[in-house]
Amino acid sequence: MDMPQHQPLRDHVAIVTGAGQGIGRAVARTLADHGAHLVVNDLDQSNAESTAEELRSSVTTAFHFQADVTDAPGVQAMVDWTADTFGAVHILVNNAGILFPTSVMDIDEDEWDRVIDVNLKGAFLCSKAVLPHMREAGWGRIVNFSSTAGKNVSTVGGAHYTAAKAGVLGFTRHLAREVAPYNITVNAVCPGLIDTEMVRGTIDEERTRAYARSFPIPRLGRPEEVANLVAFLASDQAAYITGASLDINGGDLMI
Ligand code: NAP
Repeated sequence: MDMPQHQPLRDHVAIVTGAGQGIGRAVARTLADHGAHLVVNDLDQSNAESTAEELRSSVTTAFHFQADVTDAPGVQAMVDWTADTFGAVHILVNNAGILFPTSVMDIDEDEWDRVIDVNLKGAFLCSKAVLPHMREAGWGRIVNFSSTAGKNVSTVGGAHYTAAKAGVLGFTRHLAREVAPYNITVNAVCPGLIDTEMVRGTIDEERTRAYARSFPIPRLGRPEEVANLVAFLASDQAAYITGASLDINGGDLMI
């Protein structure tokens, strides 16, 4: 994508979780293209570092911060560091997520807890940590990652993934209502099948192609397409949208 002439997120500070690869990396790049300063979070230190390195070639500032979004002290340290470094936190994108294709009979408690924790509790912990800074700034944008799975049933992941992504939608609505008086919006994106490691590492190419053919727009989505939606929700143009869940799925789910 060419760098927009007009940078709607200039001087805004954004944290994107799970931005070492896939959709998160594309989101970080797009927000940087729109002028935001970036803190690139990931569990994987070297992936976070390489995303930040890539962003530094644009005009904005980008740092990486390794943290597990399920670890409250680690999340707090990341947000404190961001606020100390930039003086504010304006945008949080809760993108970090994991998926396992396990059937219910085979999901053990540890796997259930981990999937719920990364996809749902992570969004809660990161949101809680940034809210004081957004309230202080009198402006904030939180974009949570649900999925088509959150509205229907996951075709790729197990029941824990479907449950976590449905939970993200409830959390989004509730938080949106609580923080609306502070000029903070909270929305969820619900991607369909997007071409990332998460999909490639879970289903084989033949099954992926069959899914893609079944969509009204017969292909997988691209990370950059989801990133454009997130950038819109993070902008002033989306000021009257809150508590919403926006589908981006090639027409796979129409409700
Ligand atoms: P991805 O390629 O697997 O990337 C997810 C990133 O999150 C990875 O870099 C991963 O790091 C990181 N991560 C995992 N656990 C973390 C933790 N505890 N703390 C910090 N970072 C962590 O997945 P993706 O396809 O880009 O998915 C991004 C988001 O979109 C997820 O929330 C996913 O559920 C959602 N989504 C994806 C699709 C799709 O079709 N791809 C569809 C609907 C929704 P490691 O590699 O080190 O684990």
